[in-house]
Amino acid sequence: MGKIVRTISKDASVVCSAIDGTDIVSEIERIHKTSAVVTAALGRLALGTSLIGFGLKDKDDSVTVKIKGSGPIGSMTAVSDSFGNVKAYSDANIVELPLRSDGKLDVGSAVGKNGTLTVIKDLGLKEPYVGQVELVSGEIAEDITNYFAISEQIPTVCSLGVLVNPDLSVKNAGGFILQLLPFAPDECIDIIEKNIASMPSITNMMEMGNTAVDIALKALEGLNPNILDSFEVAYRCDCSRERTKRILMCLSKSDVKSLAEDEITEVKCYFCDKVYHFTKDEMLEILNQKCN
Ligand code: ZN
Repeated sequence: MGKIVRTISKDASVVCSAIDGTDIVSEIERIHKTSAVVTAALGRLALGTSLIGFGLKDKDDSVTVKIKGSGPIGSMTAVSDSFGNVKAYSDANIVELPLRSDGKLDVGSAVGKNGTLTVIKDLGLKEPYVGQVELVSGEIAEDITNYFAISEQIPTVCSLGVLVNPDLSVKNAGGFILQLLPFAPDECIDIIEKNIASMPSITNMMEMGNTAVDIALKALEGLNPNILDSFEVAYRCDCSRERTKRILMCLSKSDVKSLAEDEITEVKCYFCDKVYHFTKDEMLEILNQKCN
């Protein structure tokens, strides 16, 4: 189980959410059998999306974050509920690139520096809220920071890290999102800047034994922070036979008709690899229920 936590400064002008997502990213590697750089890229996106989801107001709200870059990974998609439970998949699961000169996985090149980051928030309204920005580096945390600055006009600091072992298992993974409210005083901004500049990387902090709570409190050090709430989070796919059937119902009549020619139609969930089977009779029933 992962852990997600939210802290707030005493004057309520800065909020920081942090996540220990080692188990979540391990699950991504287990399900999708990703190479190291894809584990890092998809892991960062999943944890960033989880932190954005955790910031949603209503319990039934959800958020989808898509990154479509020019690099070999192609597109990546992550979906989180409002508790931070998340699921993710990418176009390519295996990408091999040389390490960067500093010895780190080259997430920016795997994702690509040209492309878009799209945030779709389902807030229970008739239409979802959609915001899109150009990628700045493909390193994901920077792209999320830029999204909040440009699209939502919220001063944000986002840091995400995934450390992959030589055997491709996940050593640790985590991150935080810190956001300033419009009334945040200048002194508070100065303190935050100093805190961020002096903080080691997320994976280093986790290596040193810091928990999500420690990280979220450290980011707000000097501002008398309090813990607002904290939950267990996990990689969670909410697919079901019923949902899969509804997706088939949305296909065009001719598509359903051609699928119904096979004895068995197999539908695989992108997020968890679960396979659903529909017999010819079931497909014909779906066809009959369709009116378009
Ligand atoms: Zn699924």
